Amino acid sequence: MTVKSVKFAKKVRPNSRRKLSDDDLKMHLQFSEYGMNAKEWLRKCALMLPEIERRKIWKKKKFGSIFEYAAKLAGMSKNQVYDALRIVRKVENLPALRRVVEEKGVNAVRAVATIVTEENEMFWAKKAMEMSARELETYVKDFRGEINRSESLHVKTTEPVKVKTTVTMELDPQTLKQLEKLKGRDGTWEGAIKNLLETREDHLEAEKPEPVKSESNYVPAQISKFVEKRDNCTCVFPGCTKPHYALHHTQGFSRDHIHDPDKLYCVCQSHHSLAHRGLIENENQKPKYWRIREKADSASPRFGLDQLVGEHKRLTFS
Ligand SMILES: [Zn+2]
Repeated sequence: MTVKSVKFAKKVRPNSRRKLSDDDLKMHLQFSEYGMNAKEWLRKCALMLPEIERRKIWKKKKFGSIFEYAAKLAGMSKNQVYDALRIVRKVENLPALRRVVEEKGVNAVRAVATIVTEENEMFWAKKAMEMSARELETYVKDFRGEINRSESLHVKTTEPVKVKTTVTMELDPQTLKQLEKLKGRDGTWEGAIKNLLETREDHLEAEKPEPVKSESNYVPAQISKFVEKRDNCTCVFPGCTKPHYALHHTQGFSRDHIHDPDKLYCVCQSHHSLAHRGLIENENQKPKYWRIREKADSASPRFGLDQLVGEHKRLTFS
């Protein structure tokens, strides 16, 4: 994978600068309007399908299946019908979630369909309305992890759960021999790996650049290179292994105008958005202590999506 750094504002497709004639623009606007209406009507159709299936209306009208019925009458694909039957069915008696489907489509509630109940409907409907489908999926995954963690410990704590996992690795004989030496006769594999990690941390610490005060939100190359190397160009949120999308200033760059390598981390697109919604707890600590929050921290200096504008971002291409 190659990683290319660009300023977000420069992500312009090659032909998008070509000027539209008045006639082109008129045609484009008309198409957009028709497209918007088509999507709206498709969302309405999707909401009706579970009931149509229950009453077997497609059968009474002599169609071979509900898929044929939806394809011929509404141009719906097989996947759209599956989604409507599976996801809409789960939310059709929850009015707030139904409204989300009406406005944003079935995909917008996909991530919450299996966890939403009458009791928590308003909470998830609000999140589904605000977030993109991808962001919501990440949030739900982290949120579930958080609930499991709290339940297993019966108490909220900032300490990571200490559960050991067995890992199988394929190693060439030479690497294995070197590792065995590092482990020693009486040592443990965990100890050997911890040793390696500590050595890596020491090396990184020695080459860490000094913080830089700047009016520009563009992270100096020396610092961005260091942060990307330290984080291995991977999102630092616990459990997330997605490639990084942005270099995130945990203290909020607009507050102190400092690029500090100790307060800059690689984050994926979803965790970047969640951080800017104030939904990540313990951001002032090392990432291993970061947790997902149920409610946004309105006291957070970077609370609010408006802060996303102008933030230096890094895009990754594979
Ligand atoms: Zn992430």
